[in-house]
Amino acid sequence: MKQIPYWLDTAPPFPDRSGRDLPGEADVVVIGGGLTGLSTALHTARKGADVVLVEKDKVGSGASGRNGSMCTQGITIGVGEARKRYGQERARELYGAFREAVDVVEKLTVDEGIDCDFKRSGRLGVAFKPEHFAAMKAQQRVLADDFDHETVLLDRTQLRSELGSDYYHGALLDPLSAGLHVGKYVHGMADAAERAGALICERNAATAVTRGADGRFLVETLHGTIRARQVMAATDAYTDRSMPWFRQRLICVGSFIIVTQPLGDDLAREIIPRARLVVDSKNIGHYIRLTPDNRLAFGGRARFAPSDPASDLKSGQVLKREMAEIFPQLANARIDYVWGGSVGFSYDRIPHAGETGGVYYSMGYCGHGVQMATYMGRAMAEVMDGHPEANPLRGLGFPKVPVPFYNGTAWFLPFAGAYYRAKDRLR
Ligand SMILES: Cc1cc2nc3c(=O)[nH]c(=O)nc-3n(C[C@H](O)[C@H](O)[C@H](O)COP(=O)(O)OP(=O)(O)OC[C@H]3O[C@@H](n4cnc5c(N)ncnc54)[C@H](O)[C@@H]3O)c2cc1C
Repeated sequence: MKQIPYWLDTAPPFPDRSGRDLPGEADVVVIGGGLTGLSTALHTARKGADVVLVEKDKVGSGASGRNGSMCTQGITIGVGEARKRYGQERARELYGAFREAVDVVEKLTVDEGIDCDFKRSGRLGVAFKPEHFAAMKAQQRVLADDFDHETVLLDRTQLRSELGSDYYHGALLDPLSAGLHVGKYVHGMADAAERAGALICERNAATAVTRGADGRFLVETLHGTIRARQVMAATDAYTDRSMPWFRQRLICVGSFIIVTQPLGDDLAREIIPRARLVVDSKNIGHYIRLTPDNRLAFGGRARFAPSDPASDLKSGQVLKREMAEIFPQLANARIDYVWGGSVGFSYDRIPHAGETGGVYYSMGYCGHGVQMATYMGRAMAEVMDGHPEANPLRGLGFPKVPVPFYNGTAWFLPFAGAYYRAKDRLR
């Protein structure tokens, strides 16, 4: 069994972008080589800026190369909560941004010729409890009436034609959500940013950002200092102690994925006949999809623990057990991959983007970052070019996690996990 992300293992080999000469000056320095950073670098470079992206490890080594590869529609907090918090008009605007984000990913794959298996295979939100299905019925009406979004409700019997499992009580199908191969996508985005003129420097962490009397930033990195007019922090759940302001605002949650052996066409079609992306409604839920070569990728939070090699293995065992409960047909399937990563959550469960002390940022995508990181990179390039109105998340602040002395170490997560797991047991 390999302990690396399937997506990185099956993408073409990434070029080595380490050891590159660092220029002393740049218009823009982007910190972080995930989808937020790559998209910001691409879009600022397209505008003619002289851009340097510094990445601590390798492009895609953070969450962007280790996720569920789902590019789905829908706002992190749900439309009901969005309306309650922000009012109908603002909720519509925010919802529109989350929806447009998938279009932006699709357009980039076409414009930049990124061959990454992007396909609008649709997302099935599956109901773990009968009351979840009742809530989906209500949600379907609100989506259609107030958010111009048509979805399809499937009762338990209808769901059987979409999923080879009797585990769920029904589903809400969004036909426009997409799956892709995120390893190939991250690759393609890095190549596109370089074609646009950005310089990507891997294995070069930013260690400090300060501002000089002339208003310019000094970005200190392991391999030299760059003077820059603008800086974009794109480090999300992988933000280190050099940027404490962000760490005080992010809760980083471990999430884990197992991938089975290739299942063959017949079994794959029995499990998910139309290759939908499946996300369940549990508090500690699962995200499930077929890979392009007909393996099952089965993800979830499993243990509310951070990811490391030992933790990933333990989480993989939990996921294997849970997968067999949902799909008994897979009880004996071999697991070929297991890995984990860190998901950046904000305290109010909505992404945040803006500027603090002159440094621009976008992060806290709460598990919706494949599309939103890409989208927000584009939006922040506009903001940095003098168009603050291009930020759909403007004015939302970025609340601190209200735990005394919180510095990014979420010691309380196992307790929250135990509480939600107990709630899930009450079926
Ligand atoms: C297991 C898992 C499953 C997920 N599934 C999905 C999904 O199916 N769909 C979805 O939409 N979202 C999903 N997500 C979330 C999504 O992957 C993230 O929201 C998104 O990738 C965030 O992108 P990013 O570029 O902001 O951050 P990242 O991709 O995490 O990139 C941040 C980068 O910053 C670098 N860095 C940190 N500090 C420094 C420094 N000081 N100097 C230089 N570089 C630095 C890190 O090395 C890292 O590469 C999942 C996440 C995980 C972990």
